Amino acid sequence: MNQTILLKSRPEGAPKLSDFEFQKDDSTLNISEGEILLETKYISVDPYLRGRMSDAKSYVPPFKLNEPIASGVVAQVKASKHDNFKEGDYVSGMLDWKTTQISNGEGLNKISPERAPLSAYLGVIGMTGLTAFLGLHEIGKPKAGETLLVSGAAGAVGSVVGQIGKILGLRVVGIAGTDEKVEMLKADFGFDDVINYNTTSDMAAAIKETCPDGIDVYFDNVGGPISDAALFSINRFARIIICGAISVYNKTEAPTGLSVQPFLVKNSALMQGFIVSNYADKFPEAMTQLSEWLGEDKLKYTETIVEGFENTPQAFIDLFSGKNKGKMIVKI
Ligand code: NDP
Repeated sequence: MNQTILLKSRPEGAPKLSDFEFQKDDSTLNISEGEILLETKYISVDPYLRGRMSDAKSYVPPFKLNEPIASGVVAQVKASKHDNFKEGDYVSGMLDWKTTQISNGEGLNKISPERAPLSAYLGVIGMTGLTAFLGLHEIGKPKAGETLLVSGAAGAVGSVVGQIGKILGLRVVGIAGTDEKVEMLKADFGFDDVINYNTTSDMAAAIKETCPDGIDVYFDNVGGPISDAALFSINRFARIIICGAISVYNKTEAPTGLSVQPFLVKNSALMQGFIVSNYADKFPEAMTQLSEWLGEDKLKYTETIVEGFENTPQAFIDLFSGKNKGKMIVKI
């Protein structure tokens, strides 16, 4: 039985299960020359997919209604009529939310379960690891001894950003949503300090206290009031990396907040948004470094693995209430 998840309606506000539709069919999928048959093993659910579910103009086209959703997927080749792939190979790439599908191999990378667990290719040595590495290096330009503040710190990108900061000799402070996450970041990932934004009434004061020398680099995954509060502690020539803004993805009205300009002018600070694919030419170099750190145990990672294809939409929805620690992944 082949199963597919389609986008049934564009979410208004927070995404709901009723925005998704399951389709089942038991026809046999036959491949032609130059094609492979893939069985899905792991699906990556990511906050950025929320943007593709709306029809607003963005850097990637929106998903079409009543068509499959796609994201990072790890799959196994079940049959091949393609010179570069053989039965049993594992691949990762942008694929549909389907249990089984046919591909012409374009955009797929062969991956090895001997080198790292398959799910890691969707996280620490996949898109989110690259986002952490390239955003921090290319915009943050971190230097040993500086202070790095990371929001969304217990998530897939944030937990890697903080650890890279530590490897490079920075003081690293995180912001996360539960005490359990705070403990994890300090005990397992080496963060110097972490703020629980859900139990802190004055974020600007908490940031000032945990970053006594000010912030040199702010890696922002969340936007909104947390990021407004960080502006009060930025240093001269601070670099602010706008990686994501999950706190506003579900807003139905234009978000409002502080005017950032006076903070940037006064501090000669840089604030820059980015999309990881801007740096595609640097992926091999970044991947080599991430894999090396992983092999040396300098870089650790955690995952929240949800079992079952049918739970993919819920796993996606749960990102917005912080149910994940590290990378949220669905195991099929
Ligand atoms: P995460 O693993 O960080 O999951 C999302 C986390 O966001 C949740 O666990 C939750 O943690 C936190 N969160 C949810 N709602 C809020 C809120 N209202 N305020 C503050 N925190 C919230 O996801 P990723 O690591 O995959 O992505 C992190 C960010 O990076 C996202 O904004 C994403 O869009 C962006 N991104 C950008 C890329 C790029 O190329 N620019 C590429 C990949 C990701 P908590 O319990 O701490 O609230």
